[in-house]
Amino acid sequence: MAFGLFKDGEELFNAALEEINRKEYDKAAKTLEKAIDKKTKNVNIAKVYIAFINVGKDLDNPACYDALNASLKDLGQDNFKFGLTTFATDALMKECDAMSKCIRARNMGDGDKVSKANMMIDGAKGLMVAVGDQNLRINEYYSGHALSGMRMANAIMAEANELLALDAYWTDPQKAAEYQQQAYNYRRQNGESGEENLKKMQQYSKACTCWICGRQVVGEGMHFFQMSAEPSPQQIAGDKNELQRSLSDSHDIYVCRACYTSISRRADAISNEYYQRGIAELRATEAALRGQIIALEARVSRLQSDIMMLRH
Ligand SMILES: [Zn+2]
Repeated sequence: MAFGLFKDGEELFNAALEEINRKEYDKAAKTLEKAIDKKTKNVNIAKVYIAFINVGKDLDNPACYDALNASLKDLGQDNFKFGLTTFATDALMKECDAMSKCIRARNMGDGDKVSKANMMIDGAKGLMVAVGDQNLRINEYYSGHALSGMRMANAIMAEANELLALDAYWTDPQKAAEYQQQAYNYRRQNGESGEENLKKMQQYSKACTCWICGRQVVGEGMHFFQMSAEPSPQQIAGDKNELQRSLSDSHDIYVCRACYTSISRRADAISNEYYQRGIAELRATEAALRGQIIALEARVSRLQSDIMMLRH
């Protein structure tokens, strides 16, 4: 029974529907909670609405998609209306499941790149099957932007392949270039230029002969580096025949990682030695100056008391 201000479960549920129509989602969620407390008959759909409101507030939170998915399982209806939009229950459940997996994979740390990339690929494949060329319904409802499941999946596949490339580059530049090629294909499918992937592929497959040790190396920026140097014209002429591609256009030399790191570590050690020596000398000078200041202060105060004695 309802008296005045005290609404029953059904009245509260109907009030929440109006609040949803007015897009007053926070208010609607509170009213729905109250309707559930007051034992509304619409408890299942009320729970779906609350979960649907929560996912809208935090579209990047996988737990919100899981909660919505769980509430949809108990709904017992093929479709439902939220505001003016009708959603197919089964399709939305699949979307929630795929979105939750994709977001979880994307949010993983980069510590284990291969595991993260594989999780992302799994999630993206799920999205291709579950949503495909249809638009992501939840994203579309709240953001107003049409984004197909395929487009989102392509973007995730590109990111995953870039991660795999990054991981493989350390041991296998050739394999890394293949991953970049895959990433490039996915980006092209989404209408992007894929310029960064092309640049990386060139970088990964670039080869040189180390100017210092003469080893053949593949993979710029990881396995060999440019170093500033001053090769003489005679060396440059000699380089053309024997040590192909060991010079850059600017006459910097190309040096393999082992040579590069051994030189830079030795240089670091030497400069650190100079630094420590410099600091020690500075400290000694400082101590000497401090001693002189103390001596001078003592002389000044002696002179001051001499003057005082002369005045009296
Ligand atoms: Zn070398």
